[in-house]
Amino acid sequence: MEGVDEVDTENLPRVALPMATIYDEEAVEVLRKQAAVQPHTLKRFRNVLFKQAAGLEEALEILPVEQQAGFREGLQAEVLTLHEARVSEIDGAEKLIFRTVDDHLIETVILKPESGRTAVCISSQVGCACYCSFCATGLMGFSRNLSVAEILDQVRWVNRRIKTEGRSVRNVVFMGMGEPLLNQAAVFEAVERLVDPAWFNLSGSHVTVSTVGIAPGMRAFTERLPTCRLALSLHSARQSVRERIIPQARKYPLSVLKEVLEKAETRGTVMIEYILLKDLTDRPEDLTALVDFLGDLPVHLNLIPFNSFIGSNLEGTSYANCTIFCNKLKNKGLKVTLRHSLGVDIMAACGQLVQHKLKIDKNID
Ligand code: SF4
Repeated sequence: MEGVDEVDTENLPRVALPMATIYDEEAVEVLRKQAAVQPHTLKRFRNVLFKQAAGLEEALEILPVEQQAGFREGLQAEVLTLHEARVSEIDGAEKLIFRTVDDHLIETVILKPESGRTAVCISSQVGCACYCSFCATGLMGFSRNLSVAEILDQVRWVNRRIKTEGRSVRNVVFMGMGEPLLNQAAVFEAVERLVDPAWFNLSGSHVTVSTVGIAPGMRAFTERLPTCRLALSLHSARQSVRERIIPQARKYPLSVLKEVLEKAETRGTVMIEYILLKDLTDRPEDLTALVDFLGDLPVHLNLIPFNSFIGSNLEGTSYANCTIFCNKLKNKGLKVTLRHSLGVDIMAACGQLVQHKLKIDKNID
């Protein structure tokens, strides 16, 4: 089964960074003790770095002058390097491409809806081992997991970038490159830091981890992070169709996912993502299967128009037909939203820009 069993993504060696970072709790604690910095001073140092999104030099000013050198020499602030930024002329969405220390490219997308609630869509892996047919990242294959520092640095980078606009990140969604629940250890730790008052201090209901349905990871997530949100990329409630577009569906069939969702019932609203593909997920039988599958589950359904990309042979449902599909579901009593695609002109959907750039780099475009 391509992309399902070959790679044990949880047990791969982690990337080694040249020096300790501001995200490395143990290294920072060692420095604190060496420099005899008081715990409450370290707390203020972290507040400046992570809540006020200031640079390392500004944060160092919190420390007594004689204690600054050890921290300056022992820690690096940024883990990722900005390689390219594209800004949508339509809606202001920004796609950032970061370069990792070992020369991989990953994507982060900043969404700026009219509500003013800035959201950032972050990556959890370089590429992905799941090979979903509607996803540009799926065509790239899997390289490696991102570390906790690389995951969190995307959020800090964005906060620093949008600070001058008077904005800060309100929502974080793990919907960029990679399957977060196949990099569970790092993703769970990163989520804990995002909601920790001593770190990023976001509300749990504003942090969403999206999965194509890795059932053991979903169970672990609802156990360990009950205040945070889970999104299931369902995309079809018909097993045969789902297997066609999501190879992982063979390993975790709809019956298993339904059981997980029923048990997650008391842990807040689960988001269900459903991509509308012409003649594949938008037919009357797809709608009936979807209504049957969701039944009385306390979920919110997001319908997603499909953004086509190079290498894909799938076609999106027209916007008019998306609206009809949405209204029919509403008439069945489901809580459903038809999403508007932000950043269409900058290839904002997962993996599109990196995949496009890699093709150009290899001269096969
Ligand atoms: S949709 Fe998610 S899980 Fe599927 S290939 Fe893309 S990144 Fe991986």
